[in-house]
Amino acid sequence: MAVAQILVTLDGTVHDPDVPFLHADDLAALRGDGVFETLLIRSGRTRKVGAHLDRLERSAAMMELPAPDRAQWRGAIEVVEKQWSRANPDAEAWLRLVYSRGRESVPDAGPTAYLMAGPVADRVAAARSEGVSVVTLDRGFSTDLADRAPWQLLGAKTLSYATNMAALRYAAANGFDDVIYLSSEGSVLEGPRSTVVTVTGTTLTTPPSEAGILPGTTQRAVFETAASEGWTTRTDALGRADLIAADSVWLISSVALAARVTSLNRYIMPVSPNHHDFVDLVDRAICVDRE
Ligand code: PLP
Repeated sequence: MAVAQILVTLDGTVHDPDVPFLHADDLAALRGDGVFETLLIRSGRTRKVGAHLDRLERSAAMMELPAPDRAQWRGAIEVVEKQWSRANPDAEAWLRLVYSRGRESVPDAGPTAYLMAGPVADRVAAARSEGVSVVTLDRGFSTDLADRAPWQLLGAKTLSYATNMAALRYAAANGFDDVIYLSSEGSVLEGPRSTVVTVTGTTLTTPPSEAGILPGTTQRAVFETAASEGWTTRTDALGRADLIAADSVWLISSVALAARVTSLNRYIMPVSPNHHDFVDLVDRAICVDRE
């Protein structure tokens, strides 16, 4: 029987996802005080586990959470993967790792840690096959904020995604599928749930993570595979004009993989004849797990 969602705690115990689970005073719920990762299960295997655990570790360190126990997370990921694949052998799933500071009233109890999986949304399948219309939105800060204000946690994947969700709702209300954030100087940053990559000829370019964006595991995997196959990969500042001038612009991420930007601020981006090469490259790159 197909299963809608799977819930597993870090000790590998499987829970009923329809039974209340979190304490009301968990700091994830009260303050978004925690970190998370979202991975893809494809063909029964969770993709890029090592890279996601690296980033979970890094985000946790930035928030002064205890270092995650990698072996334990790997074990729990395998439990979710097996549960999912047994119930839905052919379906892709998102797999979320959630790691919060724990209960406000019981600080000694330590972090709360659990994993969830569920079916990849129709929206994601449509973004992969049809692409996305994108609006650029001002994020309201400069590319040097990450350096000047480390407490802003730029570059950590925290549970505080309320403003990212607001940007996506704003875009939807104005007839767009997705968003590319710009810094206050007009530099391209990232999407609310994706990394921006341009393709021009066989050159891939992405903005530097020092600009205050999340280092993407998909971008890194794609650039490593691309470099080994003879593409040129660059990390460089991009402006709106660079997006328009590129052969193609992509929003890439672990679950949606590669969504082509079909229009930018209503300007229709021409279809590049070799845009399937990039989709194939991303598909190959996520098969590599470097740990
Ligand atoms: N940037 C942001 C803000 C994100 O939320 C995400 C993914 O959710 C990404 C970039 C892409 O990261 P990854 O490729 O590791 O999924």
